[in-house]
Amino acid sequence: MQNTLGLYIHVPFCLQKCGYCDFYSITGTTAQMDAYVKAVTTHIKEAGRYCGKYTVDTVYFGGGTPSVLGPRRLAAIYKACGKGFSLSKSAEVTLEVNPGTADKKLFKKLRKTGFNRLSVGVQSLDGTRLLELGRSHTSEQAAAAFQAARAAGFDNISVDMLYGLPNQTLEEWRNTLETIVKWQPEHISCYGLKLELNTPMLLKNPTLPDDDLQADMYLLTNDLLVSAGFRHYEVSNFAKPSRESRHNMKYWTLLPYMGFGPSAHSDFDGKRFSLVRNLDEYIDGIANKSEVIDRSEFVPEIERAGEYLMLNLRTDRGVSSNDYSKLFRASFDSIEEKLKRFEEHDITQRIGDRWRLTPKGFLVSNRVISAILGAAVEKLPEYV
Ligand code: SF4
Repeated sequence: MQNTLGLYIHVPFCLQKCGYCDFYSITGTTAQMDAYVKAVTTHIKEAGRYCGKYTVDTVYFGGGTPSVLGPRRLAAIYKACGKGFSLSKSAEVTLEVNPGTADKKLFKKLRKTGFNRLSVGVQSLDGTRLLELGRSHTSEQAAAAFQAARAAGFDNISVDMLYGLPNQTLEEWRNTLETIVKWQPEHISCYGLKLELNTPMLLKNPTLPDDDLQADMYLLTNDLLVSAGFRHYEVSNFAKPSRESRHNMKYWTLLPYMGFGPSAHSDFDGKRFSLVRNLDEYIDGIANKSEVIDRSEFVPEIERAGEYLMLNLRTDRGVSSNDYSKLFRASFDSIEEKLKRFEEHDITQRIGDRWRLTPKGFLVSNRVISAILGAAVEKLPEYV
């Protein structure tokens, strides 16, 4: 059986920098975009030569704002994926879209090229909130982009939303979600706003909803979306049946993926590595056949065991005691003891040999996972 691989393409351009964002992106010129496309397509084709045993079954264009590249450049990158790698005909091919950079004409071209899934960055439907976030689009543009994507033939659309915004109320978040549900997307991601260090929004010191209100927003999201037929399959992600993000599931289930473009990460062949976080260095490195990896490490089994627990517990498939024992040659007993204690508080639940977090458990997932990781490390054999 062929091994499968996911490709991640980091497109480092945005129309403007959002106030809360610390991803690597710049407002590029057309010359920079062309140089980037030349570098990234070369890189993809070169890397593909070493991956003959893999079939690529997911490709994810993220960023940044991939849609700013326009259809011609995006098609060139997509084609390079097919030239460099064995690309499955049924691959999930996702493009992140900023609503201010897309219309029906673009969507039609993308669909024709081979893109079959979109992730539309809506974030909020309130004009004031969008301005505060520094987004470059309006809520009307977001609705129009969603409808245009549907009209162009996209039948797998995800909507990205943010909650816990400055001065946002529970009622406002409920109304926003109800409107989004009416759009009938196949997938919704809802992230609590986190202000990363040194972002302009953090420096303004805005008043964010307190922990209790954020928790109420999270639980409301679960109730509302599950009642509307979505499965809460990951801490922040909801999908209609069989519409989970196949690409992101690779991250959460420790399957291999390879990243291209500045700052992209990979987990491949037992190694994790990231590429230089600078467009010029990336372009020069590819042109001169010099190093573009800025960090790389072999992942020891002890870390893999921790990752298995941490990432799988973020999903509703949870962790399996049998899989854990087989994969890491270690006892699951001490982990199970902890999971049982959380079960008494409706934070975890057992289904067969699997343990998963409840919606209440998802809410405090970080704390639960660190308690469980502690139990796991105590019990791993020395040779792991
Ligand atoms: S569009 Fe996305 S990647 Fe670009 S600045 Fe805004 S949040 Fe960051």
